Amino acid sequence: MQFSEMCTAPPKSIAIVGGGTAGWMTACLLIKAWPTTKIALIESADIGIIGVGEGATPYLKTFFKHLDISESEWMPACDATYKVGINFEGWSGLKDYPSYFHPFFSALDKPIADMFFHNCGLKRRGASAHTLPDDFFIAAELARQKKQPHLHTNATRSLPDGVDYAYHFDSAKLGRFLKSKATAKGLQHVVDNVIDVACHPSGDIDHVVTEKSGPIQADFFIDCTGFRARLIHQTLKCEYVSYADNLLNNAAVAIQTPVQSNTQQEIQTRSVAMNNGWRWQIPLTSRQGNGYVYSNNHISACEAETELREQLDIGDNDDVQVKHLAMRIGRLQTHWHKNCLAVGLSQGFIEPLEATALMLTQLTVDKFINTVNSKNASKAARINEFNQQLNTTFDGVRDYIVAHYQLSKRDDTQYWRDNQFNNAKPSVLTTLQRAWLNGSDIEAVLTSLEPKLVYLRPSWYCIFSGMGIFPNTQGAASNAAPLSHAKHYCDEVVKEWFL
Ligand code: FAD
Repeated sequence: MQFSEMCTAPPKSIAIVGGGTAGWMTACLLIKAWPTTKIALIESADIGIIGVGEGATPYLKTFFKHLDISESEWMPACDATYKVGINFEGWSGLKDYPSYFHPFFSALDKPIADMFFHNCGLKRRGASAHTLPDDFFIAAELARQKKQPHLHTNATRSLPDGVDYAYHFDSAKLGRFLKSKATAKGLQHVVDNVIDVACHPSGDIDHVVTEKSGPIQADFFIDCTGFRARLIHQTLKCEYVSYADNLLNNAAVAIQTPVQSNTQQEIQTRSVAMNNGWRWQIPLTSRQGNGYVYSNNHISACEAETELREQLDIGDNDDVQVKHLAMRIGRLQTHWHKNCLAVGLSQGFIEPLEATALMLTQLTVDKFINTVNSKNASKAARINEFNQQLNTTFDGVRDYIVAHYQLSKRDDTQYWRDNQFNNAKPSVLTTLQRAWLNGSDIEAVLTSLEPKLVYLRPSWYCIFSGMGIFPNTQGAASNAAPLSHAKHYCDEVVKEWFL
């Protein structure tokens, strides 16, 4: 019996096609969940991996914790550094709002975050108040001081929670690290090209045909073939929902540069707005990752590379590694169809502005395991709910990413004008922006939208205030929380508890 017909127990055998970060993360999670399932991973040596994707969200911490892999083991192996948030520079287009920090939040922020929300509320209603997110979150202070997000072991007072944080890492090294873990646990690793996919009359996949190793059969197949989506889209023809109307960027150029050995390690990603997109700057222990994400309807690959080189001050230097990439932005309508699940770039991709791709990969596999293990509802209902929840999550991430472009007042290039005046605006963003600006009860609106949101209250406050989305007329002094209180709290906490 095919797996799509039963779905009441873990599959006896699984074939994962694709050995990028998504393939290896999936393999590790499935081995842990179902140790008796026979798992094979097939990857092509000819096609290779996308080889970018160096920033994460705090969700990745739970991945390593779940696999019992310590930071002291994996971080040095992957040249990893800590990340406490993203600094957005040059996005607003307003001279009074040159940059803002989007932090990872924690319980530690509570006293000052409340001041921040209070001040934003006043300023939304026309009073004057300090509202730069950078001054109200511990993560921002840590980033400023380049302090690791770990607590002192000898702190005099105990602290309920530390700060939440994520990582930067070398994605190729992370793949190799996870490969060693998975193969050590008995995964069958096949280096070969999948050249055909054979289906049953029922529509389930029976086997994949490889060039050298012949047919490979399994109860269940996982498509981790990247943008090619070899199984889920090319074979099973699952519908693809494009986000191209909302998000104009569709290409990137990545350049690696050396790190300055004598400078203290940054613990933030920099996201710098460019003429036709934005660039990332990611610190690793071994090098710096840089990339320009842009719209190729507005500039050519060559122009993008030149603009990035200028910003990095590397001129025509040929010693640097340069990689040009096309990006398909959108998602599948059905991530799990018949006996096939798509994970990673094959299931969809929202441009990397908030570094969410690996979080979505992890979430997909976690949900898949829970759905198979769950005995609630019928098989069809469970798969349907699984697909719907993933679609809501992808759309929720998209809505927040779109806000970065559509809230910007930059109008210095056609690219920024096309973004600012783009009529394809997600309804969530329209509703929130209206409520924010007309002074109505934003908390009630956020609560009503919660089922659709991935980014919650603090993130929306940060982006609106960081981009300077306030009424033009600012009144006289109000009962705003003074900046000195927030600064004092941050100084004290960081001095006492962080290394
Ligand atoms: P890939 O790395 O493309 O792997 C596909 C695999 O499938 C390869 O092993 C390939 O050989 C194999 N394959 C394909 N066809 C066949 C076949 N016919 N037979 C056998 N094997 C086959 N994510 C983040 O989380 N944070 C970031 O900061 C981030 N930045 C990004 C920046 C850019 C510009 C881009 C484009 C992506 C970024 N991502 C980021 C996304 C991230 O790179 C990917 O999610 C991640 O690398 C996983 O990719 P993947 O494994 O799905 O695909």
